[in-house]
Amino acid sequence: MLPKTMQAAVVTAFNQPLQLQEWAVPRPGPGQILVKTEACGVCHTDLHAAHGDWPLKPVPPFIPGHEAIGRVVALGAGVTIVKEGDRVGVPWLYSACGHCEYCLSAWETVCDEAQFGGYTQNGGFAEYLLADPNYVAHIPAGLGAKEAAPLICAGITTYKGIKGTEAKPGEWIAISGCGGLGHLAIQYAKAMGLLVCGVDIDEGKLKHAKHLGADLVINASTQDPAQVLKQEIGGGAHGVLITAPSLPAFKQGVAMTRKRGTCALVGLPPGSFPLDIFNLVAGAVTIRGSFVGTRKDMAEALDFAARGMVHADIELQPLSAINTVFERLAHGDVPSRVVLDFAGAQAGGANDEGADTRAAVPIFV
Ligand code: NAD
Ligand code: ZN
Ligand code: ZN
Repeated sequence: MLPKTMQAAVVTAFNQPLQLQEWAVPRPGPGQILVKTEACGVCHTDLHAAHGDWPLKPVPPFIPGHEAIGRVVALGAGVTIVKEGDRVGVPWLYSACGHCEYCLSAWETVCDEAQFGGYTQNGGFAEYLLADPNYVAHIPAGLGAKEAAPLICAGITTYKGIKGTEAKPGEWIAISGCGGLGHLAIQYAKAMGLLVCGVDIDEGKLKHAKHLGADLVINASTQDPAQVLKQEIGGGAHGVLITAPSLPAFKQGVAMTRKRGTCALVGLPPGSFPLDIFNLVAGAVTIRGSFVGTRKDMAEALDFAARGMVHADIELQPLSAINTVFERLAHGDVPSRVVLDFAGAQAGGANDEGADTRAAVPIFV
């Protein structure tokens, strides 16, 4: 029996604290499923959403959250692709049309009809959420809900972005921003055989980057990363992945790119940045936008974690702490990723059959 109501953290107006509200538990219509949330990561994108930062704005009131992992608890008419009890993730790419030129060429991420979880559709900062079964992530057995949560946005996005740089094993990649996305990017890049330079403005993040295997770290608040790279490796990095939600990081990121290299833009601060046309043209540099990843990328990104090659560093918090978490995220005070723990709040965290190994305290090893 499903309960009638649920707790949700709701954006009621841009730039206002989220409100904890009692909402009706949605019922799945034809082709939809209902997921009972076990855990949901808090991405910097949720902060952009709550601030209405981007040209395409969500419409309040809405429930953010696009790193939700949970169990399927109800199926709408006609759903056969998942069954009740399956553990799924409800990601940013909530659905796409399936028929346009992008969908047909496995680029569903840029479909004009795409819906976005926690943005154009209500997301995982709630005890239950609806999903499109054709676009959910299938969580491998052995991967716990809490540790899987950051992988379905931060993980897939950085994995896809690294592939987009076309850097090859043995070559250098610079990761600008070593936070929620960046700490996973470092691990994916190492697992893919790359030499990694971590760039951040926070000493704690850089220390952690080293711990995660970064071969070189640069503090962009005290040093010019492009200069340091030239001295240390004799040129720029073959690939650059900019995850920092900060405009200065974009100009720096392009300057860090080696001739014939690719700079993948992933961070989404509002605004624009200047480009040095001569150096881009004469250096044959590629600049590439990269937006989450496809369902195939999702399966691959989760597989790295299921095989123990990538591990999200998480700090567990209850849904009720969301405004404090947003405040800390805005000030760069979240070490890696906060995951809202619904199982912990309701049942002491004991109902998670997967292999969550992290305790319910801030973790920063
Ligand atoms: P986060 O707050 O966890 O991490 C950001 C990191 O950038 C922090 O470590 C911070 O210290 C660092 N930083 C800030 N200014 C910097 C600078 N000038 N140089 C180097 N590092 C700097 O955020 P997150 O959850 O990792 O998200 C990062 C960005 O990526 C956000 O803008 C988010 O919206 C975007 N994002 C994009 C996609 C996509 O598909 N393209 C997907 C997810 C998130
Ligand atoms: Zn995200
Ligand atoms: Zn489409």
